[in-house]
Amino acid sequence: MRDKLVVGNWKMNGSLAANARLLDRLACEWRATPGRGLAVCVPSPYLAQAQAALRGTTVAWGAQDVSEHAAGAYTGDVSAAMVADFGARYAIVGHSERRTLHGETDAIVAAKARAALAAGLTPIGCVGETLAERERGETDIVVAREVDALITALGADSPRIVLAYEPIWAIGTGRSASPHDAQAVHAMVRKRLLRAGAGDVSILYGGSVKAANAPALFATPDIDGALVGGASLDANEFLSIGRA
Ligand code: PEP
Repeated sequence: MRDKLVVGNWKMNGSLAANARLLDRLACEWRATPGRGLAVCVPSPYLAQAQAALRGTTVAWGAQDVSEHAAGAYTGDVSAAMVADFGARYAIVGHSERRTLHGETDAIVAAKARAALAAGLTPIGCVGETLAERERGETDIVVAREVDALITALGADSPRIVLAYEPIWAIGTGRSASPHDAQAVHAMVRKRLLRAGAGDVSILYGGSVKAANAPALFATPDIDGALVGGASLDANEFLSIGRA
């Protein structure tokens, strides 16, 4: 049975005061039901704040990236073990902004997922095509390559991850993939996971998810939840998406 999960990706947003208001709303108002989770992935300096606000609640927290290395001379990087020290459950790896802006390759993303698992975190591995790739009809090729790189590297640990299909053209643009188009990609990914013995991995959709479009996306058979950027900064929107 696949878990349903809605994860907020705050990106590089927040302040102690704004976070306190948002986290307090989530802590007070989120009512968990079995198999349905809510989590926020916060900038690493705010992990302690998330831990203090959410400990003892059913809202989980995590980071937006981890180093592929365990420790050492990697100035500015944060290890998975450091993130785990703050009680985090999740670490996003391979977000398209990291792949594009920081040159993260499939191999680096797989190494980060391995590092997260080794520290006891659940990696949320992001995959997705650019607009140009979609227009060239290459969506399945690109997404399959990114998924395969992860599950090949993780092998028997593949069932321990979460995947997020995030078409890059839909991130932060207000233009979500249609439920039909997103479902088609999720079904293709599901087939590959099944072949790898990881059919129960939850596959989230990400890209301009809002309270208004979440119910239709979640009504499809292979979309198990959402990775939510902009709308996760608004407590009302984010809680509505979680309830959907
Ligand atoms: C994201 O950053 O992962 C994302 C999906 O952003 P948005 O919801 O703002 O499109």
